[in-house]
Amino acid sequence: MSPLAENMSRTQPSAFDVERLRRDFPILDQQVHGHPLIYLDNGASSQKPLAVIEAIDHCYRHDYANVHRGVHTLSERATLAFEQARGKVQGFINAAGSEEIIFVRGTTEAINLVAQSYARPRLQPGDEILITEMEHHSNIVPWQLVCEQTGALLRVVPINELGELRLERYAELLNARTKLVALTHISNVLGTVNPVREIIDQAHARGVPVLLDGAQAIPHALIDVQALDCDFYAFSGHKLYGPSGIGVLYGKRALLEKMPPYHGGGEMIRTVSFEKTTYNDLPYKFEAGTPHIAGAIGLGAAIDYLNRVGMTAIAAHEQQLLTYATEALSTVKDLRIIGQARHKASIVSFVIAGVHPHDIATIVDQHGIAVRAGHHCAMPLIKRLGLPATARASFALYNTTEEIDRLVQALEIARKMLT
Ligand SMILES: *Cc1c(COP(=O)(O)O)cnc(C)c1O
Repeated sequence: MSPLAENMSRTQPSAFDVERLRRDFPILDQQVHGHPLIYLDNGASSQKPLAVIEAIDHCYRHDYANVHRGVHTLSERATLAFEQARGKVQGFINAAGSEEIIFVRGTTEAINLVAQSYARPRLQPGDEILITEMEHHSNIVPWQLVCEQTGALLRVVPINELGELRLERYAELLNARTKLVALTHISNVLGTVNPVREIIDQAHARGVPVLLDGAQAIPHALIDVQALDCDFYAFSGHKLYGPSGIGVLYGKRALLEKMPPYHGGGEMIRTVSFEKTTYNDLPYKFEAGTPHIAGAIGLGAAIDYLNRVGMTAIAAHEQQLLTYATEALSTVKDLRIIGQARHKASIVSFVIAGVHPHDIATIVDQHGIAVRAGHHCAMPLIKRLGLPATARASFALYNTTEEIDRLVQALEIARKMLT
């Protein structure tokens, strides 16, 4: 199927049978501490369907060699599969061209690439990079590094009490010194879905490009980078039911073409001499060294799988889980949900008065339930919320309302033990 046809087919609703889909994920079929595993840490990393496991297995058993170099058959097969994976990513996010899809290790590397290759050569002392209070460390620290290197300043859009961006402050902070806006599409702590289209339009009205950290959005929503008109979009394979160590930087071709390479080495060159090296075309200019070949192929398989299930159906299922969890968790005495945005994805942070989130996570683990507790790599946000940490349940396509009931029961037990 062409990327476009795939892109259209993923919008078709398909019958969503969660029990049948669960059987696609072999890891879910196990006991933890004598209880059936309930995996609610999808915001940190999601589990892999058989289709992904088998694609990686197939690659190493039958079609593995280094890519883009050999003229021999295995190298040709590996190159074909690797480049097909790039085409699948292109279709999945509706990029205009496959050369706009750069394979990287993950969201973190993608953002560092933009910080060093796009921002660094352009920034002057006093220029500003605009981020938000709800960013993951991966969308804070790369900008701090480039600010240190150039004398640019980091400005931060605050959030309101619901955990939404204060757009009136955004409009004020956007100014003639702003050189880039970088923000998360969906918050990994609050679940907030940011109004990125509006934010991008305002930035573009001033000629400022926008990078979206899509690490949390990509598994939960249909992403269309052309409709969003974002300049850069970063995400990781491992949160999209694919392998870790592979991720994607999407960039508009016109911007990527003007950017110097980030890493130097093999694959990214056209000719090398000691006097002068000329660089390869997009996307290879940014893919120095042997890439994560099986990882890209596994990511392509994850995308095929998600297209078969249907992203629209997945999003609808997850919205049901979010509504159900929000109501069910509210019945737990002294439990407070952190992040009450009007538009949320299936990520629910919470605290229970008088109980440390780490203790909550430890006790529910005894009931076979995996939730995360901590600062979720967003220490400035947690500090702004005035909390030491939160517990977080994040739902994927294979989670069920029965699992949420079991979480609530385990939380009641934890609360009674600890207060
Ligand atoms: C997980 C996450 C990242 C970092 O992703 P890596 O795969 O660790 O590079 C960045 N931003 C957000 C919002 C995330 O949830």
